Amino acid sequence: MNAFRLLPVILAFLLLGAHFLRSGQSGLTVISGLFPLLLFIRRGWIVPTMQIGLLVGAILWIDTALEIIAFRRASDQPWIRFVVISGAIIILTASSALLFRLKSIRERYRAEPSSPAIASAFILTFTLLSIVQLKVRLPMLLMERFLPGFGWIEILLLSVYSAWITGKMLDPAQTARWRKRIWTVFTIVFFSQLALGLLGLDRFLMTDTLHLPVPAMILAGPLFRGDGFFMPILFGATVLLVGPAWCSHLCYIGAWDNLASDRTRKPRRLPAWTHTTRIIILTVIIVVAIALRLAGASITVATILGAAFGMIGVAIMLIWSRQIGVMTHCTAFCPIGLLANLLGKLSPFRLCINDRCTDCGICRLSCRYDALNMSDIKRRRPGLTCTLCGDCLHSCTDRALEYRFFRLYPTTARAVFIVLVVSLHAVCLGLALI
Ligand code: SF4
Ligand code: SF4
Repeated sequence: MNAFRLLPVILAFLLLGAHFLRSGQSGLTVISGLFPLLLFIRRGWIVPTMQIGLLVGAILWIDTALEIIAFRRASDQPWIRFVVISGAIIILTASSALLFRLKSIRERYRAEPSSPAIASAFILTFTLLSIVQLKVRLPMLLMERFLPGFGWIEILLLSVYSAWITGKMLDPAQTARWRKRIWTVFTIVFFSQLALGLLGLDRFLMTDTLHLPVPAMILAGPLFRGDGFFMPILFGATVLLVGPAWCSHLCYIGAWDNLASDRTRKPRRLPAWTHTTRIIILTVIIVVAIALRLAGASITVATILGAAFGMIGVAIMLIWSRQIGVMTHCTAFCPIGLLANLLGKLSPFRLCINDRCTDCGICRLSCRYDALNMSDIKRRRPGLTCTLCGDCLHSCTDRALEYRFFRLYPTTARAVFIVLVVSLHAVCLGLALI
């Protein structure tokens, strides 16, 4: 019975698909045909997602209709019948969104407190990847590289993935587990594509030019070459949006340090001098990159130095991070980590320790970033090295740790953060090319 009531929704998407087919847009045809399959997911977030999909469909029909009417009038062709037909399709598409208000359909897709956030993650991921698909000249998505037009299927799959992960991560008890899982998946996808590219399968590389997968090169590379600002811009944009969470959700190397430090159950403290060392390393990286450029050094010399820096980082993970249970590479060595911590202050997201804190120090054991030492806890704010990973949240039974974002309630602030960071993760997963 419910399926019968949803027929107008299915018909609206199929008509949209027919329109795209007629205009030769195979990818959009496929996605319009696949979109109704979301109706099989019996979760509350499907309702706003489908409603927005239908409204966007209605707007596309209006735009197309206006264009065709203008053309017919200018060329003295009959247009009244076309107005009636396209008007009926627009009304069908827009009014189908109202079907989700029916009681029986509302029961099928029962709303949950997390539904708006999950729907937002789906829509945000879909929108961001669609912009890349439509606006970037190179085929950025993997399916697009092998089957032109079919990147849209990947976009739909990644959007569903983003919604699913958001649902998992919104539960503070599951955040740490799922963050580590998706971060590991990301680094595996990233380096697998790199390995396949190096083996000669060019379609797995973004361009013909290889770049070193060492985070410090995000800064040093453009300083040395004087061009190639894609990665600094991507890094800057993510830092503005989600603060230092680049270093707990998005970096392709940080996940390794996370795995290394996880080998030891109880994290120990980093010596205080490591904070100064990181500033020195950042300064040296900047000075050396500029000096190499001014001296006219070859790309080979620069690459060897960059690779050596990367290898020292890996050694630090294997020896130090494993031993003391703290992500030493990320909190004491990587210059991009320091930039993420400093520039991350420009983002309004914060992790705060509220007055319910009893100074018990239990949360300290959840932090691999050396950001919850007793001095930080007594000051009621995590240290500079906090990356908003959220692993500590569940450890505090007094609920003294919370996210803040302007004047939003802490749970809403956290939901906004999770939506943004998971959507960025899904987008990076889709574009994990080097
Ligand atoms: S500190 Fe460096 S390696 Fe670690 S997560 Fe941040 S950018 Fe990546
Ligand atoms: S203080 Fe909490 S959110 Fe910040 S890095 Fe440590 S565990 Fe993660």
